[in-house]
Order: sequence, then structure tokens, then C-alpha cells
Amino acid sequence: MLEILQKSMLSKEEIVSLLSLRGNKQRQLFSHAANVKRQQTGNIVWLRGLIELSNRCMKDCYYCGIRCSNKEVTRYSLTHDEVMQVVTRAYEKGYGSVAIQSGEVSSKTFTDKINKMVSDSKRMTQGKIGITLSCGEQSEETYRRWFESGADRYLLRIETSSEALYGRLHPHDDMHSYVKRVKALESLRKTGYQVGTGVMIGLPFQTNEMLADDLLFMKQFDIDMCGMGPYIEHTNTPLYAFREQLPPITERLSLSLKMISLLRILMPDINIAATTALQAIQKEGRELAILAGANVLMPNITPKQYRDDYILYNRKPVAVHSDDDELAALEERLRAIDHEIGYFRQGNSLHYRKFIRNNFYPLST
Ligand code: SF4
Repeated sequence: MLEILQKSMLSKEEIVSLLSLRGNKQRQLFSHAANVKRQQTGNIVWLRGLIELSNRCMKDCYYCGIRCSNKEVTRYSLTHDEVMQVVTRAYEKGYGSVAIQSGEVSSKTFTDKINKMVSDSKRMTQGKIGITLSCGEQSEETYRRWFESGADRYLLRIETSSEALYGRLHPHDDMHSYVKRVKALESLRKTGYQVGTGVMIGLPFQTNEMLADDLLFMKQFDIDMCGMGPYIEHTNTPLYAFREQLPPITERLSLSLKMISLLRILMPDINIAATTALQAIQKEGRELAILAGANVLMPNITPKQYRDDYILYNRKPVAVHSDDDELAALEERLRAIDHEIGYFRQGNSLHYRKFIRNNFYPLST
């Protein structure tokens, strides 16, 4: 098996076969991916303080807990001042970057609000804080405006690269079009962001062939970063009706870890997040992902009173201690697996930095 892993490109058939590894061979895969990561990005883990800006969303994705049809959700939006307080505190604590995530809204009020948040965050930190946005599909003009105000990265998950499966996960209308989503990713690339995407792993109707295609999609799209994790059902969603068809939860965790390892092998220098959904399945899920090739963590720094209203799936982990104590414990657990946090550094994608260096100008780390 290790001979296959030495190749710089894996075929779809090889990926499918690697996705079914178990036991010792699965451990060999993780360890090989960890070595690839060490050679490329070292054992530093980059932080993105996650700010769940708003659970208002105009979309109705069949798997998502904050879809507009879910009337059980108490809707909220953080104010500009609340966000600025969180960003300031994160910056002082050494978070080199924050990630602002929100349901999808395209009104002028919303896009103006993001714009001001981005430019004020940069101004308050003398341009030092890195900003990732994850606010869904927007017009190219809006993407450009936010980029020009200082946003560095954009995460727009394709969720699945299978158009047929995408169609089973979303309403069939113009707002939920697979083609439009791919076009939005292309707009982001054109605008100049570090572009991230990702998929859900272990969905009903999903095959290992589809997952292999997901990895090849990311490779072909030449992404700079990835946030992917296990699909976890949410009770108040249409997809919950298919829960009997899901792989067992532990299988979804192990598939997700193998996906991370394979992506690291396919794209050695990109940033790969150890997502919270992994931790929702197993307490040490994020550390397992770090050991399988991930190099980014996104601790939740949203004001605590809002966190229970941003529930995309069941089992969302709840922080029992203060954010500072949670970060200290995380640091300790990372040290135990020979990794350290890259405080006060943006942690930009090495892949993107190489691209910029070769094509334009130097970028701060
Ligand atoms: S997945 Fe995103 S776009 Fe879809 S309903 Fe949830 S928050 Fe909205």
C-alpha cells in the first residue's frame, strides 16, 4: 500500500480503495499523511477564532439546522460592536486570524455590515489579523468589495461535487443551484482570495466513488484550504428522514480522517481544518484529524449567549469552561501530540503564498 502513497497523483480507483482501509493499514495512511504535513507545513497548528455572526439564512438546505424553514430556531445577529469586541480580544490573545461565518443573506444591509466589520477589524489591528469569511454565495462585486476591504480568505463549501447528490440535498430552484455554487467558487478565485471549499462525509446516498471525486474536484480546482467533516444529522431537517441509511457514526469519523489524509497527500501545502463536527463525534476528534494531516483549528469565540442558537447539526460540542481555559487545554492536548499553536501569525496557506510569490508580491505570514 505504501508504494501507492509515494505517488504524487492518485487515481480515482486508488482513492476509492484507500478509503476502505481499516486497522493497521488505516494507521499507516494517517502516519504517512502526517509526515507529508510535517515536511510541508511543520507541526504548527494555525488558529482561526470562529465567530458565528448570524443564524439568519434565506436558504433551505435539507441538512442544515438553521435553514429558513426551521421555525424552532431563535434568530440572532451579532452587532458590529459585539464583533469588534470579539475580534479585539482574539487579537490580544494571539489568534492570528478570525473566521466570520454566517447564514446566507445578500441584502445591502448585510453586505455593508460585513464590509465595515472587515475594514474595522483590519484597522483596529493595524492590518495584522487574518480574516476568513464564510457567508455563502454572493455576487462577484460583493466578493470583490469585501476582498478590497481586507478579507483574506473565503470558505464556500461545495458540500458534494456530485451534482446528482447535491440535487438530493437541496430544493430544486435557482437559489440552490449546483452550477451557481461552482460559479461562485470561480468568482472567489478570480477575485484573489485564498479559496477554501469542503464537503460533508457520510451522507445518505453518498458512495466512496463520490468522495473520491470530491477530492479530485478540490485538487482540480487547486484550492488553498479545506474545511470538511462528517455529516451529522439535525432532527428538524428533511434529511433526518433518511437517518436509517447513514453509515454508523464511528464510520463517518474514520472516513473523514481518511479523507483528510488523502487530501493532504494530494495537496501537501494547503491548509486543512480539523472541523468541530469531528469533535462532535469523539472528544479528541480534532486531535485525531491533526494526526491525520490537518493543520488548522477553529475554536469557537462567539459570545456564549448566542452559541446555542447556531446549531447546524445535533451533538454540537458545548464549551464548559471559559474560552481562555478551553484554549489552554487545547494547547496542552496539542503539545501531547507534538504540535504547537502558531500564535500571533495569520497562518496563510502555503499553497497560496507560493502562488502569490510566483505571480505577484510577498504576503505576510
Ligand atoms: S447550509 Fe448554509 S446556506 Fe444552507 S441553510 Fe444552512 S446556513 Fe443556510
